[in-house]
Amino acid sequence: LPDQLLIALIATRQTHLKRGPTYEIPQAYLDAILTAGGLPILLPTNLPLTALPELVNRFDGFVLSGGGDVDPALYGGRANANVHAINAERDAFELALIPLVLAADKPLLAICRGVQVLNVALGGSLYEDIASALPAAQRHDWYPNYPRDYLAHTVEVEPSSHLARILGTRKQRTNSLHHQAIWQPTPALEVVAHAEDGVIEAVELSGKRFVIGVQWHPECLPEEPAMQKLFSEFVNAARE
Ligand code: MN
Repeated sequence: LPDQLLIALIATRQTHLKRGPTYEIPQAYLDAILTAGGLPILLPTNLPLTALPELVNRFDGFVLSGGGDVDPALYGGRANANVHAINAERDAFELALIPLVLAADKPLLAICRGVQVLNVALGGSLYEDIASALPAAQRHDWYPNYPRDYLAHTVEVEPSSHLARILGTRKQRTNSLHHQAIWQPTPALEVVAHAEDGVIEAVELSGKRFVIGVQWHPECLPEEPAMQKLFSEFVNAARE
């Protein structure tokens, strides 16, 4: 497949009451990568971690997708009643993968949980639950009883950032399907967007081909030209 861009996405273990476990990812991520011209290939999190260095070499780009909460123990956080869906296998897989992707300078697009696990992998910490930690914050957890493309709030983007150049705007309306967010950003990442309440909504890493993390879900906004551009610029970076 000489001209095909292989974009790795992570398939996460799900358990079910009446059948065996499955490895899954929402289709919207696959559609977004296909539309942008890449071939989405799933990596299940039960792969041996010793395989990761060679796998990183073989792929052209990596997507960290949304999902359950990172275990607070991994960032010195505290137990919180609203922390849910901790997946130790996924945490370990992504924390092993991220440094390898960055060291190889492969393009990385991190979405929702992805931006959180990226921050944790580089030594930062999270709010275990925005509403508990920041009672004055606006609502960010517009799920599960809302459409996933509901534009919940505005995000202010740092004008000089890579993300602003891609989106073509300083103020972007976004969906918001998260109850956690970055608390202490690692110095390794630049914070490049906030919601009106100050909650961090995007980070990036300059000096790399493409490392951008967004707290919203661009894959659920397939009709939005700015979100199409985010995926197409990511795939274009993987092509270079
Ligand atoms: Mn939000």
